[in-house]
Amino acid sequence: MKAFLLQHKIKIIIAAPFVVLLLGMLIPANTVIPVKDATWHDWNHQTFWDNRWGRSGVHKGIDIFANVNRPVVSASPGIVIFRGERLLGGNTVAILGPKWRMHYYAHMNDIKVGWLSFVSQKEVIGTVGRTGNARNKPAHLHYSILSLVPYPWRWDDSMQGWKKAFFLDPTYQLLPKHRIKMARSKSKKKTVEKKLAENVY
Ligand SMILES: [Zn+2]
Repeated sequence: MKAFLLQHKIKIIIAAPFVVLLLGMLIPANTVIPVKDATWHDWNHQTFWDNRWGRSGVHKGIDIFANVNRPVVSASPGIVIFRGERLLGGNTVAILGPKWRMHYYAHMNDIKVGWLSFVSQKEVIGTVGRTGNARNKPAHLHYSILSLVPYPWRWDDSMQGWKKAFFLDPTYQLLPKHRIKMARSKSKKKTVEKKLAENVY
Protein backbone atom coordinates (compact mmCIF):
# COMPACT_ATOMS: atom_id res chain seq x y z
CA MET A 1 0.00 0.00 0.00
CA LYS A 2 2.77 2.40 1.02
CA ALA A 3 4.72 1.61 -2.14
CA PHE A 4 1.59 2.20 -4.20
CA LEU A 5 1.03 5.61 -2.58
CA LEU A 6 4.65 6.58 -3.14
CA GLN A 7 4.41 5.60 -6.78
CA HIS A 8 1.28 7.68 -7.07
CA LYS A 9 3.00 10.65 -5.49
CA ILE A 10 5.94 10.41 -7.89
CA LYS A 11 3.53 10.29 -10.83
CA ILE A 12 1.83 13.47 -9.62
CA ILE A 13 5.18 15.21 -9.12
CA ILE A 14 6.24 14.29 -12.65
CA ALA A 15 2.89 15.21 -14.19
CA ALA A 16 2.43 18.53 -12.37
CA PRO A 17 4.84 20.62 -14.49
CA PHE A 18 3.21 19.32 -17.67
CA VAL A 19 -0.23 20.22 -16.36
CA VAL A 20 0.98 23.72 -15.45
CA LEU A 21 2.61 24.03 -18.87
CA LEU A 22 -0.57 22.88 -20.59
CA LEU A 23 -2.79 25.22 -18.57
CA GLY A 24 -0.53 28.11 -19.56
CA MET A 25 -0.80 27.12 -23.21
CA LEU A 26 -4.60 27.04 -23.01
CA ILE A 27 -4.93 30.70 -22.02
CA PRO A 28 -5.74 32.62 -25.21
CA ALA A 29 -3.04 35.10 -26.24
CA ASN A 30 -4.83 37.79 -28.18
CA THR A 31 -2.29 40.59 -28.06
CA VAL A 32 -2.93 44.29 -28.67
CA ILE A 33 -0.57 46.89 -30.19
CA PRO A 34 1.46 48.02 -27.17
CA VAL A 35 1.55 51.75 -27.89
CA LYS A 36 -1.53 53.81 -27.07
CA ASP A 37 -3.47 54.89 -30.18
CA ALA A 38 -0.91 53.29 -32.52
CA THR A 39 -2.08 51.45 -35.64
CA TRP A 40 -0.36 48.87 -37.84
CA HIS A 41 0.91 51.71 -40.02
CA ASP A 42 3.28 52.73 -37.23
CA TRP A 43 5.82 49.94 -37.77
CA ASN A 44 7.53 48.35 -40.75
CA HIS A 45 6.15 44.82 -41.16
CA GLN A 46 9.35 43.56 -42.78
CA THR A 47 11.98 44.40 -40.17
CA PHE A 48 11.59 41.28 -38.02
CA TRP A 49 14.80 39.27 -38.39
CA ASP A 50 16.41 41.97 -40.52
CA ASN A 51 20.11 41.16 -40.34
CA ARG A 52 21.63 44.61 -40.62
CA TRP A 53 20.97 45.26 -37.02
CA GLY A 54 24.22 46.31 -35.33
CA ARG A 55 25.20 44.53 -32.18
CA SER A 56 22.14 42.33 -31.84
CA GLY A 57 22.93 40.66 -35.19
CA VAL A 58 19.32 40.29 -36.23
CA HIS A 59 16.28 42.30 -35.27
CA LYS A 60 14.22 40.04 -33.03
CA GLY A 61 11.17 42.24 -32.87
CA ILE A 62 9.46 45.29 -34.31
CA ASP A 63 9.89 49.02 -33.76
CA ILE A 64 6.67 50.95 -33.22
CA PHE A 65 7.30 54.63 -33.86
CA ALA A 66 5.57 57.26 -31.71
CA ASN A 67 6.36 60.54 -30.01
CA VAL A 68 8.36 60.55 -26.79
CA ASN A 69 6.16 60.00 -23.72
CA ARG A 70 3.24 58.37 -25.55
CA PRO A 71 1.98 55.69 -23.12
CA VAL A 72 3.24 52.14 -23.64
CA VAL A 73 0.52 49.62 -22.76
CA SER A 74 0.84 45.93 -22.02
CA ALA A 75 0.08 43.83 -25.09
CA SER A 76 -1.21 41.03 -22.87
CA PRO A 77 -2.09 40.42 -19.25
CA GLY A 78 0.80 39.03 -17.23
CA ILE A 79 3.38 39.39 -14.51
CA VAL A 80 6.35 41.76 -14.64
CA ILE A 81 9.44 39.53 -14.54
CA PHE A 82 11.98 42.26 -15.33
CA ARG A 83 12.05 46.03 -15.13
CA GLY A 84 15.22 48.04 -15.31
CA GLU A 85 17.95 49.50 -17.44
CA ARG A 86 19.87 47.48 -20.03
CA LEU A 87 22.79 48.54 -22.17
CA LEU A 88 21.11 48.16 -25.58
CA GLY A 89 17.47 48.12 -24.56
CA GLY A 90 17.61 51.12 -22.24
CA ASN A 91 14.58 51.23 -19.92
CA THR A 92 13.15 47.78 -20.39
CA VAL A 93 10.18 45.76 -19.12
CA ALA A 94 9.57 42.04 -19.62
CA ILE A 95 6.13 40.60 -18.91
CA LEU A 96 5.29 36.90 -18.80
CA GLY A 97 1.87 36.40 -20.35
CA PRO A 98 -0.42 33.62 -21.61
CA LYS A 99 1.06 30.65 -23.52
CA TRP A 100 4.39 31.15 -21.70
CA ARG A 101 5.21 34.09 -23.90
CA MET A 102 7.50 36.81 -22.65
CA HIS A 103 6.69 40.28 -23.98
CA TYR A 104 9.70 42.56 -24.10
CA TYR A 105 9.43 46.36 -24.27
CA ALA A 106 12.56 48.49 -24.76
CA HIS A 107 13.90 52.05 -25.19
CA MET A 108 11.22 53.48 -22.91
CA ASN A 109 11.52 56.92 -21.39
CA ASP A 110 9.86 55.90 -18.13
CA ILE A 111 8.86 52.62 -16.55
CA LYS A 112 5.56 52.69 -14.69
CA VAL A 113 5.29 49.15 -13.27
CA GLY A 114 6.98 47.42 -10.37
CA TRP A 115 8.83 44.12 -10.41
CA LEU A 116 6.55 41.09 -9.96
CA SER A 117 3.39 43.17 -10.26
CA PHE A 118 0.43 41.85 -12.21
CA VAL A 119 -0.70 43.91 -15.18
CA SER A 120 -3.86 43.66 -17.20
CA GLN A 121 -3.99 43.99 -20.96
CA LYS A 122 -3.78 47.64 -22.10
CA GLU A 123 -2.51 48.75 -18.69
CA VAL A 124 0.10 51.53 -18.96
CA ILE A 125 3.57 50.11 -18.21
CA GLY A 126 5.75 53.00 -19.36
CA THR A 127 6.25 55.67 -21.99
CA VAL A 128 7.87 55.72 -25.43
CA GLY A 129 11.43 57.01 -25.45
CA ARG A 130 14.85 56.67 -27.01
CA THR A 131 16.94 55.11 -24.22
CA GLY A 132 19.67 52.51 -24.73
CA ASN A 133 20.97 52.27 -28.30
CA ALA A 134 17.97 54.24 -29.64
CA ARG A 135 19.54 57.52 -28.53
CA ASN A 136 20.27 58.68 -32.08
CA LYS A 137 17.13 57.24 -33.65
CA PRO A 138 13.55 58.50 -33.83
CA ALA A 139 11.64 57.61 -30.67
CA HIS A 140 10.10 54.16 -30.81
CA LEU A 141 9.09 51.18 -28.75
CA HIS A 142 11.03 48.02 -29.49
CA TYR A 143 8.67 45.10 -28.94
CA SER A 144 9.63 41.41 -28.96
CA ILE A 145 7.70 38.26 -28.13
CA LEU A 146 9.78 35.36 -26.79
CA SER A 147 8.05 32.01 -26.42
CA LEU A 148 9.51 29.90 -23.62
CA VAL A 149 7.91 26.87 -25.29
CA PRO A 150 9.89 26.32 -28.52
CA TYR A 151 8.33 26.06 -31.98
CA PRO A 152 11.10 23.95 -33.61
CA TRP A 153 9.44 23.88 -37.06
CA ARG A 154 10.08 27.62 -37.35
CA TRP A 155 13.87 27.20 -37.43
CA ASP A 156 15.33 28.23 -40.76
CA ASP A 157 18.71 28.88 -42.34
CA SER A 158 18.70 32.66 -41.76
CA MET A 159 21.24 34.29 -39.42
CA GLN A 160 20.64 32.92 -35.87
CA GLY A 161 17.72 31.07 -37.47
CA TRP A 162 17.43 28.57 -34.59
CA LYS A 163 16.28 31.42 -32.36
CA LYS A 164 13.15 31.70 -34.51
CA ALA A 165 11.93 28.69 -32.54
CA PHE A 166 11.59 31.12 -29.63
CA PHE A 167 11.13 34.63 -31.04
CA LEU A 168 7.74 35.14 -32.67
CA ASP A 169 7.15 37.82 -35.29
CA PRO A 170 4.95 40.33 -33.41
CA THR A 171 3.44 41.51 -36.71
CA TYR A 172 1.62 38.19 -37.07
CA GLN A 173 0.27 38.51 -33.53
CA LEU A 174 -0.96 42.07 -33.99
CA LEU A 175 -2.36 42.40 -37.51
CA PRO A 176 -5.97 41.65 -38.36
CA LYS A 177 -6.30 38.18 -39.95
CA HIS A 178 -6.75 39.29 -43.58
CA ARG A 179 -3.63 41.44 -43.29
CA ILE A 180 -1.51 38.57 -41.95
CA LYS A 181 -1.96 36.68 -45.22
CA MET A 182 -0.75 39.71 -47.17
CA ALA A 183 2.25 40.26 -44.90
CA ARG A 184 3.23 36.58 -45.16
CA SER A 185 3.26 36.56 -48.99
CA LYS A 186 5.21 39.83 -48.99
CA SER A 187 7.86 38.47 -46.63
CA LYS A 188 8.16 35.29 -48.74
CA LYS A 189 8.79 37.47 -51.80
CA LYS A 190 11.38 39.43 -49.87
CA THR A 191 13.23 36.24 -48.86
CA VAL A 192 13.35 35.05 -52.48
CA GLU A 193 14.61 38.46 -53.67
CA LYS A 194 17.28 38.47 -50.97
CA LYS A 195 18.45 34.98 -51.89
CA LEU A 196 18.54 35.91 -55.58
CA ALA A 197 20.66 38.93 -54.69
CA GLU A 198 23.01 36.75 -52.64
CA ASN A 199 23.16 34.17 -55.46
CA VAL A 200 21.83 31.43 -53.23
CA TYR A 201 19.57 30.12 -56.02
ZN1 LIG B 1 13.99 47.28 -32.44
